[in-house]
Amino acid sequence: MAKTLFKNAKLVSSDFKSSDHKMAFIVEDGRFSWIGAQNKIPKKQKFQKEFDLMNKLVLPSFIECHTHSVFAGSRAEEFELRNTGVSYLEIAARGGGILSTMKKTRDESAAKLVKKTQMHVDQFLKQGVSTLEIKSGYALDLKNEIKSLEVIKKLKGPRFVSTFLGAHALPPEFKTHAEYLDYLVETVLPVVKKKKLAERVDIFIEQKFFEKGPAEQFLKKAKQMGFQITIHANQLSLSGGVDLALQLNAQSADHSIYLTDDLIQKFSKSKTVAVLLPAADLYMKCAYPPARKLLDAGATVALATDFNPGSCPTQDLSLVGLLARLEMKMTLPEVFTAYTSSAAKALGIFQDEGDFSLGKRANFICTDADLSDFFYSAGATPDHFLFICGKAVRRN
Ligand SMILES: [Zn+2]
Repeated sequence: MAKTLFKNAKLVSSDFKSSDHKMAFIVEDGRFSWIGAQNKIPKKQKFQKEFDLMNKLVLPSFIECHTHSVFAGSRAEEFELRNTGVSYLEIAARGGGILSTMKKTRDESAAKLVKKTQMHVDQFLKQGVSTLEIKSGYALDLKNEIKSLEVIKKLKGPRFVSTFLGAHALPPEFKTHAEYLDYLVETVLPVVKKKKLAERVDIFIEQKFFEKGPAEQFLKKAKQMGFQITIHANQLSLSGGVDLALQLNAQSADHSIYLTDDLIQKFSKSKTVAVLLPAADLYMKCAYPPARKLLDAGATVALATDFNPGSCPTQDLSLVGLLARLEMKMTLPEVFTAYTSSAAKALGIFQDEGDFSLGKRANFICTDADLSDFFYSAGATPDHFLFICGKAVRRN
């Protein structure tokens, strides 16, 4: 077994409140097999490689747990229209909105989509992201939703978690949301399952979109088929999305802006993670979620970009963390936790990565910067090296 020794590390503590000089760790077949003090390195061991980290700060790499990175085209022009007061309905009437992305994504070749999406992936990788969740949901028919998920399988760099979000919007071929959900269950999900293209199923629950009743039937069927579930919940109203996520033990309820005290209490007693997306809230000019109340109640809170061409065209993790600190009163250690171990919990992979535990994937970044340099300057990630499974992936 290939063994690599990393020595002279300034290892960050599990609560991100301090760091310890003169630490060392051993990576065996991509996973941590020993972590301890520099002067306690097991003797009589042969290492295939040794890295002197020269007292750099070492911290877990980031997990980006909510993106819509597979799409064609851009909606930049719409942003200017929306910002100068043109209504969403008027934009849709002019051929804009999610259905314009749908049309472009359906028309795009798989090869071109791979190329474009890989550029987005590289942008995340540069910021120290070692695991990236990507949703389908901009094609809304069998052929092209499968095409989008197959694109994810062709990407390179971080570990990918694929999520099927066919229930993102109603495509023009269907008259009712219920009819479309039946089509997804009967025609699309079996193919996704057979081809092993996604582990998770997501749905956008909101009044006048997918409502709680039909969504519940859909998610129960998805669970029966062996999918994990996650929900776009309570972004615009008390839509019942969070209630359903908690009732069905979803991995996460994402957005979670509109919450009652009762829901916050229920969150804190559940394993469902509240994935908060403040950069989308900035673009949408809506309220920020009650992160402080969730954390104080003991709920698990993760952060992510929600990168997509409409409501959140930024991939900037620094901006997300900065907004969490400025607008949601999260402390810096809470932001780090939200972007590492809690994000791993949201994706159901915490047993495998997300912190420095023995047996977990050796995913980390090392840097000359201090912890306080992160999530401080929008658009700027401190210079660092990213290691995935103990291998140097890239320097930024
Ligand atoms: Zn989203």
